[in-house]
Amino acid sequence: MPTLADYPHLHTGKVRDLYAVDDELLLVVASDRISAYDWVLPTPITDKGRILTAMSAWWFDRLAAIVHSHLVAVDDPRIPAEVRGRAMLVRRLAMFPIECVARGYLAGSGLVDYAESGAVCGVPLPAGLVDGSRLPEPIFTPATKAAVGEHDENVGLDRVVDAVGAGTATRLRELTLAVYGTARDLAADRGILLADTKLEFGLDRSGTVVLGDEVLTPDSSRFWPADQWRPGRSQPSYDKQYVRDWLVRDSGWDRVSAPPPLPAHVVEATRSRYVEAYELLTGLSFTRWPD
Ligand code: ATP
Ligand code: MG
Repeated sequence: MPTLADYPHLHTGKVRDLYAVDDELLLVVASDRISAYDWVLPTPITDKGRILTAMSAWWFDRLAAIVHSHLVAVDDPRIPAEVRGRAMLVRRLAMFPIECVARGYLAGSGLVDYAESGAVCGVPLPAGLVDGSRLPEPIFTPATKAAVGEHDENVGLDRVVDAVGAGTATRLRELTLAVYGTARDLAADRGILLADTKLEFGLDRSGTVVLGDEVLTPDSSRFWPADQWRPGRSQPSYDKQYVRDWLVRDSGWDRVSAPPPLPAHVVEATRSRYVEAYELLTGLSFTRWPD
């Protein structure tokens, strides 16, 4: 049986680690780390890596009719026992240097851009929209990946064309909006608003555009409880609201120095929210596979 140490380590993100299995395959390992306000918090959320891995795999399956994915397996002898349940064996892709974002509601950097210019990534929007407004139709708002510690930069479609060519840019836009539309409808049936989502695509060896990275997890998307949606204020987030509220209201943290450790009740409440989001979306119950 392989161990993680057998695989060359390629990359550490805020939440995930990437390893090379061989020339064709990678291992994407999700940790229990959680970020808030651009900080990785010092206390992990029990099972978060497993929940997000299961969620992502479930979505890849749901999206198979729309787009090929890089997922090979979550249950495979090449996955070391120490990370089973929170690792995906995936096909290695040549990733496009673009964060492919679809937005159906106004929030985050979309709201900031709109407030400044009335548009997001060059897409003009009607006047009078507020924080959390539903957009007339979903829009493609790409970003270029920023260096570590910096924010991704929202760009217009022209910048995507410059980076990947007109044909591929059109394809990325179509696929991103198709994935968003499908996922939004599915989530809506289950009482969850999918406000926006970030996808990453790459090319496989045959030159096919393939969906990579993680998909439609709370780390890559804004999920809002539909029954609490009130445009005109920031919307409660499905997963991180408890942590955020505790950090800014109760912890005494100044948001400048490193954030404090989370107390057990915050960890437990946050874990419950991830489990709830998973179970609500998938209709499955979360079991701590493989043990
Ligand atoms: P952040 O923590 O802000 O997301 P990050 O994007 O550098 O930072 P991760 O998301 O953890 O960190 O890193 C995953 C990396 O793996 C990304 O660079 C992504 O583009 C890359 N990646 C995902 N799937 C594949 C794949 N199939 N082939 C090659 N690279 C991939
Ligand atoms: Mg990433």
